[in-house]
Amino acid sequence: MTKYIFVTGGVCSGLGKGITASSIGLLLKAKGYKVFMQKFDPYMNVDPGTMSPIQHGEVFVTADGCETDLDLGHYERFIDEELNYTSNITNGKIYSSVIEKERRGDFLGATIQIVPHISNEIKNKIYEAGHTSEADFVITEIGGTVGDIESGVMMESLRQFRMEQTSANTLFVHTTLVPYLYGSNELKTKPTQNSIIDLRRLGIQPDIIVTRSNIPLGDAVKKKISLFGSVPTENIIEAIDVANIYQIPMNFHNQNIEDIILNHFNMKITKSNLKYWEDLIKTVTNLKEEIEISLVGKYTELHDAYISVVESLKHAGYKHKVKININWVDSEKLEKIDNLEPIFKNSKGIIVPGGFGSRGIEGMIKAINYARVNKIPFLGICLGLQLSVIEFTRNVLGIEDASSTEFNETCKNPVIDLMSDQKNIINMGGTLRLGNYECSISKNTLAYSLYKEESILERHRHRYEFNNKYKEMLEEKGMVFSGINPQSNLVEIIEIPSHPFFIAGQFHPEFKSRPTRPAPLFDGFINASTKHKLKR
Ligand code: GLN
Repeated sequence: MTKYIFVTGGVCSGLGKGITASSIGLLLKAKGYKVFMQKFDPYMNVDPGTMSPIQHGEVFVTADGCETDLDLGHYERFIDEELNYTSNITNGKIYSSVIEKERRGDFLGATIQIVPHISNEIKNKIYEAGHTSEADFVITEIGGTVGDIESGVMMESLRQFRMEQTSANTLFVHTTLVPYLYGSNELKTKPTQNSIIDLRRLGIQPDIIVTRSNIPLGDAVKKKISLFGSVPTENIIEAIDVANIYQIPMNFHNQNIEDIILNHFNMKITKSNLKYWEDLIKTVTNLKEEIEISLVGKYTELHDAYISVVESLKHAGYKHKVKININWVDSEKLEKIDNLEPIFKNSKGIIVPGGFGSRGIEGMIKAINYARVNKIPFLGICLGLQLSVIEFTRNVLGIEDASSTEFNETCKNPVIDLMSDQKNIINMGGTLRLGNYECSISKNTLAYSLYKEESILERHRHRYEFNNKYKEMLEEKGMVFSGINPQSNLVEIIEIPSHPFFIAGQFHPEFKSRPTRPAPLFDGFINASTKHKLKR
């Protein structure tokens, strides 16, 4: 029988609720239990797919093609399980599904109300995650802060859920902030007390409180939170600031959070299998060498827009024992600069990740040209592949007006064009080519040497594709199409063998990278970067 764990947040956002939920998931999995995770986002968008990456951060894509919140990336990286469409629920999804049912007449004349219709829909999504995953634990994180207007009905649904399932099958973890005030030089518990009061007003009593602070709480502060929060002191778990998020599970483990949870549910306390994670932490905290990698994109003002790319670079760095320092390069700014040398002179690799729209693309093309001509290791992702093809067509084949119909609809040489099944699409939301597609890899290529497999599955999120009409012309000049989707013949991987390391994928390898198992393209890219010699 599935047990349900809910993770809420108080005081303010950005406390690391997602990492808290992920760490609990990792620790329960390390006890041999099956874990599934879910995020509830209280916004009215159906999914984050149509939101600006600068506002919302990265859109994480699951294997089954659901566009989701970036927290799902943390979940997958920590618990190493593939999540799916049941893992990200938004108010937009809930309301549109209830309204659709109402229009169909499913409610047989009833007046549709927030309670019970919306709250039932929400509870059903939690049950659905339990039934379809058959996990021992479903961990559901609620976005936003307790007391927000938007999340009100979600919290009410959780109250009802606990009533139905009792505390024998449910557990609430509340994450809060315990700030340190300079001047009075003490930790303040009042914000935590107040957020617990807010939670109780909604009918929910937390079982575990996770406190974010920059110094240890000490016994007196813990006792105070215990008294006002009505939780035993041992159920107050300290989340002290750390240099690297992957350290957090070990910190929680040292405070026995997983045993507290298993005791709550009267479940067997087995031995933890955490050796692999301890080894990772040893590596992470002992990286002596550092290398700089330039990330060229148009959303660089919000680093969260590239979070899975950044994590994947780090994962590959762990394998090759180097710390990755990212040189964030705003592609739009490159457009006005002639000499790129000062920008890239310390970089041992250049990466151009995904993106949409025409702003900043000429800057990315310039960066790709710089990497190709100067033989600097290069990795292109999705838009990065498309722009690599444009750069090569323009500068090697001399076809100066080569472009993508995404940027120039009437372009005469559309080396990147709309996929045929995309031509009649009107709705922008959820209609990209999404999720897992197969890619067949040719032997004797860089791609094959990295993947060591002839057939792979990678996750996609794009509307445009390489235009096969230009394939032969590009091949003649030295571009190799090493990965192809066998069903549609779409190009999945390109490479330039005369370059020390130049490769790009139409998919997003960053979604499958794990801290202890870097994605092959990132692994190869960082390996090549460590070997690249900087000009003196
Ligand atoms: N904008 C391009 C497309 O839609 C690339 C998308 C991406 O980089 N994720 O095809």
